[in-house]
Amino acid sequence: MKENFPILVVDDDIVSRAVVQKYLHKAGFEVVCAGNGKEALTVLEEQFCPIVLTDWMMPEINGPELCRLIREKQTVGYIFIILMSARDSKNDIVSGLESGADDYLTKPVHPAELVARIKTGIRILSLEQSLRNANEEIRILSITDPLTGCYNRTYLGERFAKELSRSQRYKHSLSVLLADIDFFKKVNDTYGHQAGDIILKAFSKCIMAQVREDVDWVVRFGGEEFLIVLPETDCIGATVVAERLRSAIYQLAIPCEQATVHITASFGGASACFTQKSDLDITVEQLIDRADEQLYRAKREGRNRVHVTETLARSCNHPPCVDRS
Ligand code: GH3
Ligand code: MG
Ligand code: MG
Repeated sequence: MKENFPILVVDDDIVSRAVVQKYLHKAGFEVVCAGNGKEALTVLEEQFCPIVLTDWMMPEINGPELCRLIREKQTVGYIFIILMSARDSKNDIVSGLESGADDYLTKPVHPAELVARIKTGIRILSLEQSLRNANEEIRILSITDPLTGCYNRTYLGERFAKELSRSQRYKHSLSVLLADIDFFKKVNDTYGHQAGDIILKAFSKCIMAQVREDVDWVVRFGGEEFLIVLPETDCIGATVVAERLRSAIYQLAIPCEQATVHITASFGGASACFTQKSDLDITVEQLIDRADEQLYRAKREGRNRVHVTETLARSCNHPPCVDRS
């Protein structure tokens, strides 16, 4: 958990608020204050406070109601809530905790107890943060190809359909490129499988460096075949990108143990244009198939080249409507 996070103290009574604030300052904590539940929610909109200390009885939104509203909110992390109240019957404590509070402090607040309970909160928040980090790492591993660091096919399955339907809805164009290293089997046979792996890493790094960060994305589609998804990109744009990638790969000198290796790659692309009525129903599979056809064409015609086609959701026997090969 981040050091120097602010603790939000919510109390309509200025004196008890000031007392709690003083205790917390003395213990080295940063404090922000709110006069009732409504103000507290406004503060939380502007600033994430992972610990909230709230009074029970307040005008507008009281302590238990504030707890309930915080629990309903989508927050960037867990918020540890301590309810403070002079009401100390077992029933009050139970109903306070049931409203979503994590802990309970009886007023008047004892300074050492206050700090001890804040520290309990910090321990729980740190555990929650480690769990969040671990989950995030697992998530990243589950969608990443371990050799190249590109996305894997699991991620493709999760994201591509959404990307496609968003483009269809907003009538934006979307292109895909399939890139395949030429004669890679021969590279492996000549320099060994380990050198092959080094080359695959250098290849994918070069591709990822050449596309738009946070917009375009790259998937390891097969052994030495990569799929590059280019949102908001039409056939002309996709051809320009593919040619740039082809040229960057052509110029790449990859140092391996025995030699500096040069490779080439072939690119096949397909662009869907959703202003065309016939493209509106196009599927992920159709788009990739069209790119694959163009890749095979590039291979057939001698490799180290680019073929991109505009695609229509129609039989693949038709010639492409525009071919900017
Ligand atoms: P083409 O120009 O027609 O694409 O020929 P190619 O030799 O590249 O294609 P082919 O499909 O015949 O061979 C692909 C090779 O890629 C065979 C396989 O051993 C190699 N390969 C696939 N995955 C890996 C990998 O993770 N590491 C290494 N070193 N090689 C791989
Ligand atoms: Mg190949
Ligand atoms: Mg291949």
